[in-house]
Amino acid sequence: MKHLLLIALLTGAAVAAQPARRPVALIVSGGTVLTQDAAHRALAPGAIAINGTDIVDIDTPAAIAARYSAAETIDARGDIVLPGLINTHTHAPMVMYRGLADDMALMDWLQKYIFPAEAKTVSPELVRIGTRLAAVEMIESGTTTFVDMYYFEEEIARAAFEAGLRGVLGETIIQFPVADAKTPAEGLARAERFIQEFKDNGLIVPAIAPHALYTNDKATLVASTEIGRRYGVPVIIHFAETDEEVKGARERDQMTPAAYLESIGFWGPKTLAAHGVWVTDEDIAILKKHNVGVAHNPESNMKLASGAAPVGKYLAAGVALGLGTDGAASNNDLDMFEAMRQASFLAKHATHDPTVLSARAALDMATIGGARALQMDGLIGSLEAGKRADLIVVGMSAVRQTPMYDPVSHLVYTTRGDDVKTTIVNGKVLMKDRQVRTLNRAAVIADANRLAQKVREAVK
Ligand SMILES: [Zn+2]
Repeated sequence: MKHLLLIALLTGAAVAAQPARRPVALIVSGGTVLTQDAAHRALAPGAIAINGTDIVDIDTPAAIAARYSAAETIDARGDIVLPGLINTHTHAPMVMYRGLADDMALMDWLQKYIFPAEAKTVSPELVRIGTRLAAVEMIESGTTTFVDMYYFEEEIARAAFEAGLRGVLGETIIQFPVADAKTPAEGLARAERFIQEFKDNGLIVPAIAPHALYTNDKATLVASTEIGRRYGVPVIIHFAETDEEVKGARERDQMTPAAYLESIGFWGPKTLAAHGVWVTDEDIAILKKHNVGVAHNPESNMKLASGAAPVGKYLAAGVALGLGTDGAASNNDLDMFEAMRQASFLAKHATHDPTVLSARAALDMATIGGARALQMDGLIGSLEAGKRADLIVVGMSAVRQTPMYDPVSHLVYTTRGDDVKTTIVNGKVLMKDRQVRTLNRAAVIADANRLAQKVREAVK
């Protein structure tokens, strides 16, 4: 009897010493975890517990295993785990115009090819099929949040939601008649309806996107920013992309674009300026004063020979700087790894200074920097308990990644989008071991190829 009692006591004590493990939906365990938090904390190896939409905990694999039991576990041993990449400027459906017109300057490219092609072919169908194609490309190359500006933006929102991607999506406002609005007033009304429809969506942040200073008059710019303020949503604009744009503003308004947009009350409180290539020190101070985020697009800027944005100056001034691919018609892909690498190379090349935009600075720009530019750094951009579970697992076993001394160097200077194995957004696994779960990849490609026939006919 005594003996049995002793056993019972011992068993009881063992149970009491081992507290029940909390059930969670998902654990990503093993590999080098780069949190991209303020201290740039890295765990090698690390593990992440995820439940619902959120990151619950980050610690060593043993500590996470002791505290949590998971419905699904992803083995990331040998890989790098990092926050999902944030593409702060693109036009998703423009993947349908990929390679349609290359090797020319922005204004020729826009006015002779892109605007006419769009006038003949943009439709809800093209936008839907194009966005699905872009979504597969983004999921497969590790982008978890994208900022978009295009037409029929509600189709983009629906396709992004279906794909499981986070989107900051701006309905385009432009002065001339376009496929989804015959006048700017129609466009503004459309944008308002779009914002109302998606403002409470957990994945989609609706926005308004006046195309540019040179494609909108003052009244339209002011009306756009007023809608942004009224609904508390982002206002996105192409800004100081070429020296031609700046010359035009100086002639028309006797001011730089930054100063003019300030003079009409356009900036703030939630504005995102894409490009910002041709800016003075005073312009940078204006952007900083109004807390404007800037989306840097090195590949598009190089391909269209627009110039090199002064990224070092922006960072020194404390401007929130994100990275973008721009639309696939001027890049010609949506691979943010390539964008990181090219951002670093362009900054070094333009300043003749190899210390400008280090690998770490480029990785910051593609993650937490982009989140700051969107004023979403409380939710995304780094791996921290309480933030949304937007993360990627990147393979590091390719020949070109061997050997590895520095994970950050490898992510920026040798890794490609194709090396991404697993993509998770809002706690949901969108791709595991390169199998996209949310969209039918083969059907998406077939639809795009079928539609490309129509585009080909239209631009003949
Ligand atoms: Zn653009």
